[in-house]
Amino acid sequence: RARTPHEEEFHQAVEEVVYDTITVEKNDHAFAGARVLDRLSEPDRIISFRVVWEDDDGAVQINRGWRVQTSNAIGPYKGGLRFHPTVTPSVLKFLGFEQVFKNALTGLPLGGAKGGSDFDPKGRSDNEIMRFCHAFMAELCKYIGPDHDVPAGDINVGTREIGFLFGAYKQHRGQFHGALTGKGESFGGSAMRVEATGYGLIYFLCHMMAQAGRDLNGARIAVSGAGNVATHAAEEAIAEGATVVSLSDSSGALLAEDGLTADHIAWVREAKGAGRGLDDAPKGLRYTRGAQPWGAVEAQVLLPCATQNEMDEDALSKAIDSGAKMIAEGANMPLTAGAVRLAQQKGLAHAPGKASNAGGVAISGLEMSQNAHGQYLSAEEVRRRLKQIMGNIHDNVVSEAELRDGRPDYRQGANIAGYRKVAQAISAFGAI
Ligand code: NDP
Repeated sequence: RARTPHEEEFHQAVEEVVYDTITVEKNDHAFAGARVLDRLSEPDRIISFRVVWEDDDGAVQINRGWRVQTSNAIGPYKGGLRFHPTVTPSVLKFLGFEQVFKNALTGLPLGGAKGGSDFDPKGRSDNEIMRFCHAFMAELCKYIGPDHDVPAGDINVGTREIGFLFGAYKQHRGQFHGALTGKGESFGGSAMRVEATGYGLIYFLCHMMAQAGRDLNGARIAVSGAGNVATHAAEEAIAEGATVVSLSDSSGALLAEDGLTADHIAWVREAKGAGRGLDDAPKGLRYTRGAQPWGAVEAQVLLPCATQNEMDEDALSKAIDSGAKMIAEGANMPLTAGAVRLAQQKGLAHAPGKASNAGGVAISGLEMSQNAHGQYLSAEEVRRRLKQIMGNIHDNVVSEAELRDGRPDYRQGANIAGYRKVAQAISAFGAI
């Protein structure tokens, strides 16, 4: 804290992990000697660079780009790129830190990293976005590669942006290899990568429900966000028989008392893809500007899938009054520290993103091995493996979690399981 007093998001993420794992570290001679938590709290390196590009009026625009390479203890650096005006070193350090534990939980050999830029794509034309991506990669390409660091997408970086970024990587490096995941399937992408985070979240949720002696059929689920994770989670929850009562975006909440349909989700994707808002919602939906979905409609399950700290104590309290019993995070660190404490006090089952949203990076890991071997899996096979991986993560987390009133503490279990794997590697390396 003394070294980085303004990095609030980063401190929040580190404190949560330290709280759950400090005893494990203290009780293990090798882990304590290696000072694993101290080492992980200091990224391996932070690369910071200027991005210069030209807008449609021919004016020069300047943004900042970063790549935070947090740890490659168990595999190459791996983590998404985010383009959003709120991106700062603190946000990327927290995301890179979380990614280390998440990637360890997948069971795949992946280290942790995160990157992005303060570039705001809202209101920018397709050509401007392309020029920005090309300029961003002209610099980033010096620091990534298939055995070293493999970025993917995150907020505002989807299949289209990965295409622009991969084109620039290939151009500058003169090599065709899998230095990015989330690629289009015609140039090395994996089937099901686009769906993987949202669908994986629902597969994890099915295991949580089973653990609690229930299932998804008929459950009412509130989802926030209207992007990749949110819409795919909503889609798969509906396919599993749940009633999805909301989505949201940065301007308001889209509520569906009787449940969203596949057509509603298609409308949301079309509207957001075209850069429009959700105000002119079709019949059966209600869009309220400035509102959040939490507590606005009765729901037993909450799936925050938008961004960090989107749910505070107040919002969660309203959701609990409207019937919430379970939270599975689609976004990274979507609950404030106060909301996390409230969830615990009120006895909610609460899965942290590092466990429940790990499906995306797991399929990115499969994309890397498909690229390395030049052999590609069918969508059915990827989905089968995704289900298996989410089931394994659930069971691994539960095996490390204390039971509170018969309910596993998912947050503690995820932190300890992820920590243990990375700590074993770091302590084996010696003082290096
Ligand atoms: P997208 O860019 O596809 O969608 C983000 C959504 O969140 C948009 O609907 C956006 O609204 C909304 N949003 C952004 N900021 C806010 C805010 N301050 N308040 C309310 N809504 C907001 O991103 P993803 O779906 O890919 O990512 C969502 C979350 O999931 C992030 O936390 C990300 O780190 C996490 N995640 C993503 C993975 C992936 O595979 N994509 C993997 C694991 C985690 P608007 O349209 O108005 O901007």
